[in-house]
Amino acid sequence: MKNENLNPFAIAQAQLDEAAAVLQLDPDMHAFLREPMREFHFSIPVRMDDGRTQTFRGFRVQYNDARGPAKGGIRFHPDETIDTVRALAAWMTWKTAVADVPLGGGKGGVICNPRELSQAELERLSRGYMRAIARYVGITQDVPAPDVYTNPQIMAWMLDEYEQITGHHEPGVITGKPLTLGGSAGRSPATAMGGIFTIREAAKIRGLDLNGATCAIQGYGNVGSYAHQLAHDILGMRIVAVSDEFGGIYNEHGLDPEVISEHMRRTGKVIDCPETEPISNKDLLEMKVDVLIPAAIENQITGENAARIQAGIIAELANGPTTPDADKILAEKGVYIIPDFLCNAGGVSVSYFEMVQNSYQYYWDESLVHQRLDQKMTTAFYAVHEMAQAKQVDNRVAAYLVAVNRVAEAVRLRGWV
Ligand code: GLU
Repeated sequence: MKNENLNPFAIAQAQLDEAAAVLQLDPDMHAFLREPMREFHFSIPVRMDDGRTQTFRGFRVQYNDARGPAKGGIRFHPDETIDTVRALAAWMTWKTAVADVPLGGGKGGVICNPRELSQAELERLSRGYMRAIARYVGITQDVPAPDVYTNPQIMAWMLDEYEQITGHHEPGVITGKPLTLGGSAGRSPATAMGGIFTIREAAKIRGLDLNGATCAIQGYGNVGSYAHQLAHDILGMRIVAVSDEFGGIYNEHGLDPEVISEHMRRTGKVIDCPETEPISNKDLLEMKVDVLIPAAIENQITGENAARIQAGIIAELANGPTTPDADKILAEKGVYIIPDFLCNAGGVSVSYFEMVQNSYQYYWDESLVHQRLDQKMTTAFYAVHEMAQAKQVDNRVAAYLVAVNRVAEAVRLRGWV
C-alpha cells in the first residue's frame, strides 16, 4: 500500500471508474463524466488593512449541470488546489443526484488562511470572490454555499455584492445565508442532521442499539459540533472523543456538547477542556467505538491507517475522508461505511429547500424542514442500500451506481452524449 495517490481528483475519478465498470457504462458517457464541464480560475486582489494589496487565487468549478444549476460550497483554505475543487465539485454532482434534488454539482475555493485575515479583509476577499464569478452564477446557472472555513456572514457579503452588481434582489443566488437575508430554518445543523438520519437507518440494518453506543468525531466545525450535539440529544449516543485541527479530547464517560461548545467559544479550540484527557487526531480515528464520524477534510482514513480502524460504522460527514486503498481494507474488515455524498447530503438538501423558499418568498418552520430532510435522507439511504444488495457491491460503489445512473440519464436525454 505504498505510494497511494492522494490527489483528491484522481481519487474521485478512480471511484467513478470503478462504478462505470460495474454499470458497464458507455465509454463516451464515462469519458464525459470524468471531467468538469466548466471551470474558472481567477485572481482576487484584496486591499489589506495596512494598505498593501494581496492577490489571492480563486476557483469555481461547474462539474456537471445536466440535472439543474450547478450547486456547491466555497472553501477558504490554505491548502486549496484546483484538483481539490474539481473533486469536491464531482462529489457535489453525485450528491445532488443521490439526494434527488434538481441540481447539478459545483464547488469553489480560495487559497487563503482566513485565520490570518481581519474581518474587514475577509469581507473584501468575499466580495472580490463574488465579483469574479458574478456573471457565471445565479439561480439558473450556479448556486454557491458555505463549506470549510466559510459561513453565513460570508454568504451575506457575497449575496450583497451580487445584488449590488445586478441591481436586483435574488436571494436564491447563494444558500446558507443568515435567516434575516432569506436563509432557511434548520440550514446550519442540516449536514449533521442528515447524517444522524443515515446513522439511525444504518444502525437498524446492523442491529446496533444507538442508545449509549459510543462515538468519536473528528472535526469540530459547523458539521462536527452539530453532529456531537445531535448524536447526543437525538440518538442518545455517548460521544467519547472529539477533535479539531489542534488536537482532540477524550472522556470514556462521554463528552457534554454544551460544555465543549462553551469551552470552544472561549478558547477557539477543543483541547484543554476541563475533565477531558488529550488524544491525537490519529489515535481518535483508531479508537474502538461503535460509530466513527470523520467530519473534517479529505484523506484521513488511508491505506496507512485503515487496518487499525476499530469502528463498526463509519459515517462520513466530511467530503472524501476515505481513500480507495482504505476502502478495500475496511471492506475486508466488514466495516459498514455510510459514504460521504450520501451521509453529508443533508446540507445541500436544505440548501435546495432554501432556494425553493427564496423563490416562493414563503418560509417554512424548522420542524417542517427536519421532516422533509428526514424523508429525503431516508429515501436516499434506502436507494443506496437496495442497490448494494442488488449488485452485491459496497455502499460507496452503490451510491455511485445510483448517482451516475441519474446523471447519465439526464445527459442522454439532453442529447449531449
Ligand atoms: N458544502 C456543503 C457540501 O459539501 C453544502 C453545499 C451546498 O449546500 O450547496 O455538501
